[in-house]
Amino acid sequence: APAVQPLLPVVGGSTTVPLVDGTQRVYANLDYAASAPALQAVADRVAEVLPLYASVHRGAGYLSQVSTALYESARQAVARFVDAREDDVAIITRNTTDSLNLLAGVVPTGERVLVLDLEHHANLLPWLRSSDPHGRRTTILPIAETVAATLESLRAELTARTYALVTVSGASNVTGEALPVERVVEIAHAAGARVAVDGAQLVPHRGFSLARTGADYVAFSGHKTYAPFGAGALVGRRDWLDTGTPYLAGGGAVRDVRADRTVWQPAPARHEAGSPNVIGAIALAEACDALAALPAGALVEHERALRDRLVAGLERVPGVRVASIWPDSAEPVGVVTFTVEDHDPGLVAAYLAAEHGIGVRDGRFCAHPLLSRLGASGGAIRASVGVGTPSEAVDRLVAALHAYVTDGPRSRYAVEDGCWAV
Ligand code: PMP
Repeated sequence: APAVQPLLPVVGGSTTVPLVDGTQRVYANLDYAASAPALQAVADRVAEVLPLYASVHRGAGYLSQVSTALYESARQAVARFVDAREDDVAIITRNTTDSLNLLAGVVPTGERVLVLDLEHHANLLPWLRSSDPHGRRTTILPIAETVAATLESLRAELTARTYALVTVSGASNVTGEALPVERVVEIAHAAGARVAVDGAQLVPHRGFSLARTGADYVAFSGHKTYAPFGAGALVGRRDWLDTGTPYLAGGGAVRDVRADRTVWQPAPARHEAGSPNVIGAIALAEACDALAALPAGALVEHERALRDRLVAGLERVPGVRVASIWPDSAEPVGVVTFTVEDHDPGLVAAYLAAEHGIGVRDGRFCAHPLLSRLGASGGAIRASVGVGTPSEAVDRLVAALHAYVTDGPRSRYAVEDGCWAV
């Protein structure tokens, strides 16, 4: 297949890293699903606005006014990126985990929530707090062997009991696979339930449309969407967010405070107490705008080419098995998990780093129930790509795995404190 070039320039794309033999090699970053590098456009924008920031929503000074305007226009850019409807609200959070915890706090008292057992812990644990003070009850529905059967079982459960919310990942952080969001929405709405999408993996790789899918909420993270750490978003229906428990108590979230009474703001201010991450929000917005400006289909095509090349390459390596949840998944994003028969995933990952300068992730990917289900409760290896990935990085991984199964590692590496060690 012809070589694939990066779709957008990212910072650090030519960083070199030390190998065990003392040489340096350009880092092959195949860990976009954990955190993606920042776009060059994002880095430029951050440098541009860094001298301008001041406190927002409070100061009368010129820079406070500028900062407030930049922060609020960043909010609009984020809302636009996920194609929010007119009455939706965008809350700037820290990340997807923050967004989902926030949402879990505003589901009305006494209501039921439905989650699937393939979820990342961020979309599982906020719904499973053992002593939910609001008396909400969560059901974990086991996924079935196919998407079709899973949707059927979802329909049956939603018909048998009344739920206020179904919360599903837009794409699995383990296999990149997904339920078709539109179908989940159709089934849930027919039963009177809302739908929240954990978009941590879907949004950066595909974009998202609240208006088109009909989903009620979407959560995602800036650091997986080509912006630095510390800003994410929750976008969706205003009513629960306007009236639910404020996520944090503090300045900015209130209209009036007396000794005996607090009057809270509606959303988004209600859930953004404290000085917000202005630069983070601007960086996230810049990334959203850059992705939105790509020609239609470019994101999907780039990732499809890389993913197909990666899976085809992995399948030719003896002993490598690529994990899959469903044979009939909606088109998966560029996240691929595999195991190497009879080899410890931690050792393989450390070998890839130490001898080849390749960064992958190993472990159970904050999705323990799913890893058990995939028969990989001892862990696996995940390679993930994005807009800054050239096909050369994918080819290097495949070649390195061939070398590993043929010759083995030069020594037994271990990963210690996140670094490989001999
Ligand atoms: N959901 C999914 C599907 C994810 O992949 C991740 C990150 N691995 C999260 C939620 C949590 O994202 P964050 O750490 O940015 O809160």
